[in-house]
Amino acid sequence: KPLVFSGVQPTGNLHLGNYLGAIQRFVALQDSHDCLYCVVDMHAITVWQDPADLKRQIREVTAAFIASGIDPTKHIVFNQSQVSGHAELAWVFNCVARLGWLNRMTQFKEKAGKDRENASVGLYAYPSLMAADILLYRATHVPVGEDQKQHLELTRDIAQKFNNDFGPSIAANGLGEAFFPLPEPLIGGPAARVMSLRDGAKKMSKSDPSDLSRINLTDDADLIASKIRKAKTDPEPLPSEAEGLKGRPEAENLVGIYAALGAVPKEEVLTQFGGGQFSTFKAALVDLAVAKLGPIGAEMQRLVAEPDHIDAILRDGAARARVLADATMANVRDIVGFVR
Ligand code: ATP
Ligand code: MG
Repeated sequence: KPLVFSGVQPTGNLHLGNYLGAIQRFVALQDSHDCLYCVVDMHAITVWQDPADLKRQIREVTAAFIASGIDPTKHIVFNQSQVSGHAELAWVFNCVARLGWLNRMTQFKEKAGKDRENASVGLYAYPSLMAADILLYRATHVPVGEDQKQHLELTRDIAQKFNNDFGPSIAANGLGEAFFPLPEPLIGGPAARVMSLRDGAKKMSKSDPSDLSRINLTDDADLIASKIRKAKTDPEPLPSEAEGLKGRPEAENLVGIYAALGAVPKEEVLTQFGGGQFSTFKAALVDLAVAKLGPIGAEMQRLVAEPDHIDAILRDGAARARVLADATMANVRDIVGFVR
């Protein structure tokens, strides 16, 4: 079976974009793939996290995975900091990646903002840690939202440069021609990039100061309803064909959310609601969102109330991940020329 790796940062409020762009797709891959789903706490600290909040958020992301339907007995669910290979391989990749490559990363530019001199070195090196996360398991498929496409391309560049630079050593150690696979991004569907409910030009994000911009997985039915009712739209009725969504980012976003939640193509949503008023469509979207997210939010609350149970799942996952990671790192040490 092909191997899937993906991660979610424990940086705060998990939202509908995380669910539709990532977690829902993690769930769908479980039958056909062997999967590692990681709470990437080392990525989270690239921007300041209060230690007590971080602990709570790690357990919350784990709860979201499980409440959404990820099976931690069939697959591996763990937090990154418990498997030291992530940090070790990231260091090697820091020495493979080029400054020029990292300088092009748009996520760094966005997150560092104007005060770039004051951004952490970790935030800058984030993409080489992400490459390490994936390649530590030699994963071949990575389900992510559209915003991570550039980082995935960098991961492939790092894998390729490592394979080239160390080609003779890989062969001399009897490890074939290419040690790391070039992982394929799995990006797509109607919700690969869920936009803010307040601004169709910005992605829905944990860090947006406006809570009205996103639907959190833990929002109750009333809150979901009021956020969708207040979501920005334009005055035109919905079009009947997808073509008519061009230049209407807010309308396109809500149609995409409906399509992803209902597992139907956008065209079908427009056949049903095209020509009608936004208020009718929004009411149906509220019902669908509440039906889909309500049980997940409730199960998350139940799970986070038992932190010991969650911690046990993470410890067990980390122990199983470590076995795979240690095997890769032993090979990497030999390839690079470290004595062990
Ligand atoms: P942060 O602001 O801390 O970076 P985030 O909302 O971007 O938080 P991440 O933990 O960085 O969340 O990303 C987890 C996964 O969710 C990634 O696969 C990412 O591509 C996906 N994702 C994040 N935001 C969206 C979005 N608006 N639409 C679709 N997928 C998204
Ligand atoms: Mg992000």
